[in-house]
Amino acid sequence: MKPPPFEYVAAADLDEALEALADTSLETRPLAGGQSLVPMLNFRLAAPERLVDLNGVEELGRVEEMKDGGLRLGAMTRVRQLERDPLIAQRVPLLAEAAGFIAHPQIRSRGTVGGSVAHADPAAELPAVLLTLGAQVHIARRSRAGESGPRVARQLDMSEFFLGPFFSVLEPDEILTAIEVPAAVPGEGSAFDEVARRRGDYALAGVAARIRLDSDGTCREAAISLVNGGSTPCLMEEAAQALVGAKPTPDAIASAAAVCAGTSEPAADMHASENYRRHLIRVLTERVLSRAAARSRQSAA
Ligand SMILES: Cc1cc2nc3c(=O)[nH]c(=O)nc-3n(C[C@H](O)[C@H](O)[C@H](O)COP(=O)(O)OP(=O)(O)OC[C@H]3O[C@@H](n4cnc5c(N)ncnc54)[C@H](O)[C@@H]3O)c2cc1C
Repeated sequence: MKPPPFEYVAAADLDEALEALADTSLETRPLAGGQSLVPMLNFRLAAPERLVDLNGVEELGRVEEMKDGGLRLGAMTRVRQLERDPLIAQRVPLLAEAAGFIAHPQIRSRGTVGGSVAHADPAAELPAVLLTLGAQVHIARRSRAGESGPRVARQLDMSEFFLGPFFSVLEPDEILTAIEVPAAVPGEGSAFDEVARRRGDYALAGVAARIRLDSDGTCREAAISLVNGGSTPCLMEEAAQALVGAKPTPDAIASAAAVCAGTSEPAADMHASENYRRHLIRVLTERVLSRAAARSRQSAA
C-alpha cells in the first residue's frame, strides 16, 4: 500500500522542526529513521497530514562525552552506531551488546535511538536497555502562548517516560532531543539476551540486567528490565531488590529470576502464550544475571 498524502518539511535545524510541530493547523509527526513510521503510513495505521524530517538536523545526530564520562546520544544517533562505535562499546557496553539484536543491519543503519524510544514499543530492545542503564531523556518544544523564551526544554528519568503500549509522555509539539546514559563504573557488569523465532525478528521476550558489586562481592546495585514483559518497557524492581545485599550465587540469581518471572505481566499473542513468555523471562533473567555478575567480578579485578 502507499501512504496517504502528507506535506513534507525537511527541517534544517531544531528550531525549524519545533516550529513545524508547534503549528497545530495540521497533524504533524517527526520522521526519524522511518523504520516504524513509514510501515505505519503504508498500512494506514497512521495518517499524519505533515511529516517533519529530522534527518537534516545535525545537532540531533551527535554523540557527546559528558564530564562524568557518560554519553549524550542525540536522538538521531543510528542504532548501527551503537553497535559499532568503540567509544560507546567502552563506556556503555550494554548498548553495543543489545543493538546487535535489533532487526537487521539495513534497519539498524536507518533506525534511531530517539525514534525507538519515542515509538514506545514494549517489544523493542532499546527502551528496556535504557531503563536498565538509568538513562535520562531530554525533550524540547517551542514556547506556547504566555511562556517566555523561544523554547521549553525538560528532562526526565527514562522510568517516567513510558505510559502504555506505543504511548509516552511526549506531547504532539515535542521532540525527543537526546538521551543521556551513565558510563559503566568499576565493579559493574551488564548483559542482554533475548529469544526470537529468527535472528532479527522482534523478541518473544528479552532481558537486560546491570549489577554492581562491592569489593567483597556483595551486590550493591541491580537493575533488570524486560522486552515484551508487560504493556510498557518495564523495570523489574522487586527482582532487582532480591539481589541487593546478597552475593550473586547461582541460588540467589535463580531466586531473583523466579521473582522476575512471577512479577512480569507478558501478553499472549499468536507467537507465544503468557506462560511460555514467563518461562523465557525466568531462563533469560538467570542467564543475563550470571553473565552480568561474571563481568562485574572481572571489571572489579
Ligand atoms: C522489518 C523490521 C523489523 C524490526 N525489528 C525490530 C526489532 O527487532 N527491535 C526493535 O526495537 N525495533 C525493530 N524495528 C523497528 C526499528 O527499530 C525502528 O527503527 C524503530 O522502532 C523506530 O526508529 P526510527 O528512527 O525508524 O523512527 P521512525 O519510524 O521515524 O518514528 C517512529 C515514531 O517515533 C516518532 N519519533 C521519531 N523520532 C522522534 C523524536 N526525536 N522525537 C519525537 N518523536 C519521534 C515518529 O513520529 C513516529 O511516531 C523493526 C523495523 C522493521 C521495519
